[in-house]
Amino acid sequence: MTIITRFAPSPTGLLHIGGARTALYNYLYAKKNNGKFKLRIEDTDRERSKSLFSEDIFHSMKWLGLNWDHEIIYQSKNIKYHINLAEKLLNEDKAYKCYSTIEEIEEARNIAKKAKKPYKYDRKWRDFKGEFEKPYVIRVKIPLNDKTILKDKILGEVVIDNNELEDFIILRSDKTPTYMLSVVADDKLMEVTDVIRGDDHLTNTFKQLILFDLLGWKPPSFSHIPLIHSQDGNKLSKRHGDLSVKQYKEKLFLPSALINYLLRLGWGHGNKEFFSKEEAISLFDLAGVGKAPAKFDEKKLNHINMHYFKKLNLKELLSLTSSYYKIDKYKKSFLNDLLLTFQNRSESISDYLLGIKYMLSKEDIKISEKAKEVIKETKKQILDLIIIDLKDIKNWTSLNIEITLKEIAKNNNLKLFNIASPIRAAVTGKIHSPSIFKVLELLGKENTLKRLKKAF
Ligand code: GLU
Repeated sequence: MTIITRFAPSPTGLLHIGGARTALYNYLYAKKNNGKFKLRIEDTDRERSKSLFSEDIFHSMKWLGLNWDHEIIYQSKNIKYHINLAEKLLNEDKAYKCYSTIEEIEEARNIAKKAKKPYKYDRKWRDFKGEFEKPYVIRVKIPLNDKTILKDKILGEVVIDNNELEDFIILRSDKTPTYMLSVVADDKLMEVTDVIRGDDHLTNTFKQLILFDLLGWKPPSFSHIPLIHSQDGNKLSKRHGDLSVKQYKEKLFLPSALINYLLRLGWGHGNKEFFSKEEAISLFDLAGVGKAPAKFDEKKLNHINMHYFKKLNLKELLSLTSSYYKIDKYKKSFLNDLLLTFQNRSESISDYLLGIKYMLSKEDIKISEKAKEVIKETKKQILDLIIIDLKDIKNWTSLNIEITLKEIAKNNNLKLFNIASPIRAAVTGKIHSPSIFKVLELLGKENTLKRLKKAF
């Protein structure tokens, strides 16, 4: 049997971190088993579905390298087939017409709310045999006094008493099928063998298992991944910033970093921290997915991103960041040296870009409050000496700069740190930077002296 997984997003928003992780796990599971990974766009909600969002889902998945097999399935194209299935269930007495009006349902809902009980449709029309010329919805006849068993590959066995379940709607009064029916119909149509999705779908799964059964179909295997939580322990939502894949792409995060982070967010393989795509495919297993919600950690993601960022070769680095500086304006060797120096020593992408910016700036740079403090704490006599001695350097190389600064420190009974810090503060405006000797070399003598005089 060929393993077939699917990712089935609703195009009602940009692809977010949680969706991308679901897609990744489906992709890896399929590839590991030499199976197929399919993509289905669940666009039956006409109001909220936008092609703009479908496009974003495609772009983001391709960018992450989550390429799907076969053509994309659009759920909206299968609606007729879904309606036929609802009618088939009706004819087989496995579903029924419910004539309860919206007002009646609303009232029952309010009563339940007041009694602080969850609302459940009272199965009023379940055994009614007649016909009315009135609008109706089609509801499924849940097999009562029975139980439904889910053998989840992550959560283990979960059992539900069918009497707890509502006779849910499969066809609305406007003859549109509901998600519950469409998803079962399409999973069957696409020959999906494994449904891997967030555990927010757990209650849907029981209803879907019943539908599979009523339709006489073998259900796929289910695996429910615990949701991602924010640091404060709440469900990850839009409130926690816009966690779209697109946003990370725009912030120059690397797809390999995002993939690695998402892979480890809820799954692990011993202490192994970084996985190539091939390793992820061969090592991934559903048994390794944790049962507790994973916590989203932006710092960790940044750390992983920098791991990959530091591995980029010059060509890749330029192609990622070239829109941030005018490459043609600079000598190639200088630019290469500058980019590689900052690539190595930056703690984040924004740190890197900021560094390049202050290095290339022809204007006065902004000096941070902390940097100002450092300059103020240094004796005027030392500041003067720095300028005089640096001016004397004939051959402006990082080595000569280092020798000169060490001399000043030694002659004045100071640590090199006490000399380097005010210089760093003056030329970068910051209290951290790559090696100060290298920074000064790259800045050039003229520019260095200009910045020192201005700041001191
Ligand atoms: N379209 C559903 C969603 O975006 C997913 C359905 C499924 O995976 O079964 O949440």
